[in-house]
Amino acid sequence: MSNPNQPNPEELQRRLQDFLRRAMEGSGSGFSPQEASEPEESDPPESKPAEDTQFDFPWTPKSIKAHLDRFVIKQDEAKKVLSIAVCDHYHAVREAKTLEKEGKPAPHYTKQNIIMLGPTGVGKTYLIKNLAELIGVPMAKADATKFTETGYVGGDVEDLVRDLVHQAEGDASLAQYGIIYIDEIDKLAAPSSAPGGRDVSGRGVQTNLLKLMEDTDVPLRSQTDLQSQLQAAMEFQRRGKYQKEAINTRYILFIVSGAFEKLPEMVERRLNRGEIGFRPEPSELREPEDILSEVATRDFIDYGLEPEFIGRLPVRVACNHLKVDDLFSIMKESEGSLIRQYEGAFKSYGIDAMFTDDGLHAIAERAADERTGARGLATVCERALRHFKFELPGSGIRQLVVNEAVVANPDRELERILQEEGYEERLAMGELAREFAKRFHDKHQLKLRLSDEAVERLTAGAINENRGILEHCELVFKDFEFGLKLISKNSGRTEFTVDAAMVADPEKRLSEWVVESYGQDGPPPQKG
Ligand code: ADP
Repeated sequence: MSNPNQPNPEELQRRLQDFLRRAMEGSGSGFSPQEASEPEESDPPESKPAEDTQFDFPWTPKSIKAHLDRFVIKQDEAKKVLSIAVCDHYHAVREAKTLEKEGKPAPHYTKQNIIMLGPTGVGKTYLIKNLAELIGVPMAKADATKFTETGYVGGDVEDLVRDLVHQAEGDASLAQYGIIYIDEIDKLAAPSSAPGGRDVSGRGVQTNLLKLMEDTDVPLRSQTDLQSQLQAAMEFQRRGKYQKEAINTRYILFIVSGAFEKLPEMVERRLNRGEIGFRPEPSELREPEDILSEVATRDFIDYGLEPEFIGRLPVRVACNHLKVDDLFSIMKESEGSLIRQYEGAFKSYGIDAMFTDDGLHAIAERAADERTGARGLATVCERALRHFKFELPGSGIRQLVVNEAVVANPDRELERILQEEGYEERLAMGELAREFAKRFHDKHQLKLRLSDEAVERLTAGAINENRGILEHCELVFKDFEFGLKLISKNSGRTEFTVDAAMVADPEKRLSEWVVESYGQDGPPPQKG
């Protein structure tokens, strides 16, 4: 290439490989070797000539989904559809690049641009961000509402491509394989039946986006951005000529999304008009997402999107609403959980924060009421823990148990923690006693239900004996494995409620249980 700043093809290839490898390493070892081929194997040796190197894309739809599963809860259909589309896209890019290198024309390829439907805060951006990070390509995101047709008042759609280069730290060669994600795409549409017809500006932006999605050269310096123009002028002064750098959008994958709130209703109405052979279920039995699985191009057109625009988005998928249990799982299971962030924040002041399951449920329930998807979790946590973050650092308190009481009544609980000597420590010990019961269940498949009084007694016992609570539980329940297994064998029981009396005299109560488990006949006579 003539431009000295532009890396040559070998260099580009190497950088991309490098980027991909780093992304793979950075993502941990989420894949089993069977699922994802080893990127190392496909890395070109340094000395190989450029012609031998391949644009490498070692993932399969399954390995990509497995990665997304670690971070994103639910949205299984979206994960599958995205994984397939991304694989198709980058395999086609690889093929085209190989042919390009051989001087052959690339076969016709319909780009797998994607439209995602779904409410706010359900993981659409998060899915795409994790996807881009995994495959090691830059991603640029913007809301469709910020663009105007001319670009003079609002943003220019081409800025998205320049942002992609920015995200790739100036590496235009990598940016050409990036992902552009545009949210609130439904705001560009106005139903044709609406007073005044379609929003002219929205239609203009759609047309501009349409061009971008095809095969367009975008100058790296914006014509409407003063700073870019100044830079260009300075460069002209320095070098005596303008540098004409552009990036082609042929290999950029476009993903758009929007809430499309009225769409389920419209689809349902169309379905109910009765297509031959179609028997819709009563609407109250169907979730909006289920209805959206039937969405057709004409529904989008009726909604107000241009036929050419929607025609460039062949892959369609709906993301689901998140229910209370999903929000709970997001906090409990997702690797990127907000809870880890809070634990880390308290840890930096030497405070061990522990979120109990009932605390997480209380947060999830309140977050669901916010109706902003998983975003509500951050709002609820912030509201509940704000004063703790202010008061606890430097107070000498070393533990914080975030339970239902803290979420429901943060001020009262904070006061108790600060005023009652040892209050928080006792709470933390209680949680650890419950943790002991949980581990006992995991190990022996026998459930110990500790009553609140039993937990209090265990905690008091550990403090009196000056023992760690887990050690104290080990001692109190030392015969339980043997005893409960016997009972389970005799009676089939697998759940046992442990009350304060049991903790006070475990040996005596356990032997009574064992005897009872033999039924009326009593235990078999002792031999010998
Ligand atoms: P949107 O659907 O509006 O694009 P985001 O993906 O930006 O929502 O979600 C906001 C935040 O909420 C994410 O950064 C992530 O932390 C969390 N989140 C949302 N949905 C999920 C999900 N399904 N699984 C795990 N975390 C999620």
